[in-house]
Amino acid sequence: MPDIIQLLPDHLANQIAAGEVIQRPASAVKELLENAIDAGATEIQLILKDAGKELIQVVDNGKGMSPMDARMSFERHATSKIRHIDDLFSIKTMGFRGEALASIAAVAQVEMKTRQHHEDIGTLLIIEASEVLKQEPVACSAGTSFSIRNLFYNVPARRKFLKSNTSEFKHIIDEFTRVAMAYPEISFRLFHNNTEQFHLSTGNLKTRIIELLGNKSERNLVPVEEDTELLRISGFIGKPEGANKTRGNQFFFINNRFIRNAYLHHAVTTAFDNLIEKDAFPFYVLFLELDPQRVDVNVHPTKQEVKFDDDKLMYAYLQSTIKHTLARYNIAPSLDFSL
Ligand code: ADP
Ligand code: MG
Repeated sequence: MPDIIQLLPDHLANQIAAGEVIQRPASAVKELLENAIDAGATEIQLILKDAGKELIQVVDNGKGMSPMDARMSFERHATSKIRHIDDLFSIKTMGFRGEALASIAAVAQVEMKTRQHHEDIGTLLIIEASEVLKQEPVACSAGTSFSIRNLFYNVPARRKFLKSNTSEFKHIIDEFTRVAMAYPEISFRLFHNNTEQFHLSTGNLKTRIIELLGNKSERNLVPVEEDTELLRISGFIGKPEGANKTRGNQFFFINNRFIRNAYLHHAVTTAFDNLIEKDAFPFYVLFLELDPQRVDVNVHPTKQEVKFDDDKLMYAYLQSTIKHTLARYNIAPSLDFSL
């Protein structure tokens, strides 16, 4: 029998890997916004056409890249953010896998302009389906601008799976909201089909929540603040009467990274106890800060799931913090001193 195993060519490997990180326009939006944040941007613009299917552009005023880095940034497993495996446990950046740009460039038409603040001239790079079509000096503003056109144009099966513009746009708004919520000190603007949908000025968490979710939330916000040796919990919960039958306004951030976690969600809902109906979802925006050594952020390609070294303790702290907060604001009938 002849040997039959072959190494996949890079562009094909990238396309396959892209499936894990980039499922829809919203995933590209998330990755590009996170890169802008990691680059230290204070102003970020997101410009979309047709719910990102035609165009996703992210413009930041962050630190920019050198011509060499501009090219390197599109290689798979190329990152400036970690050097050793241990770095994963002291991670301060949103990114670290070095996969997003390589994945996006494998399945779209990409144009990037980038300039470092101390340079007079920047770099223009055009890549389609992992192939560099052009790299040349260009006059551009300091920072970086990515234009992603026709996502999945070369993977028709994937493109066909995209939902309606309304639905894809909703996914984008969800990602945008999660990122913008965690960085109220950064200003964000979002344009869709030439109409400005959000103009978030810099402020604090409260002003950011109101800008993102509307004035309605203001009357109902109860501040949460708890500092323990294991973790710091801060943010807001909604008063019980604001609880909704539909999910959507529940946000956990671990060290400023949005995550989903059914177990911690349970800790919060049970703290509300009989104040809300069994099937209702309380409003919460909660930031949990703990030693990065105690969290594994590398369990899922999109990093929306994490592992804790001691979930039970996290659960207990969180539940008692919410109970105490409700009691402090005279919302719950009794105090619970079990912790
Ligand atoms: P990761 O964010 O995991 O490092 P990416 O593929 O998202 O991987 O990006 C690769 C590298 O490109 C980053 O490590 C960073 O050095 C650089 N980069 C990406 N986006 C930007 C940006 N907006 N500004 C400056 N540098 C960037
Ligand atoms: Mg990244």
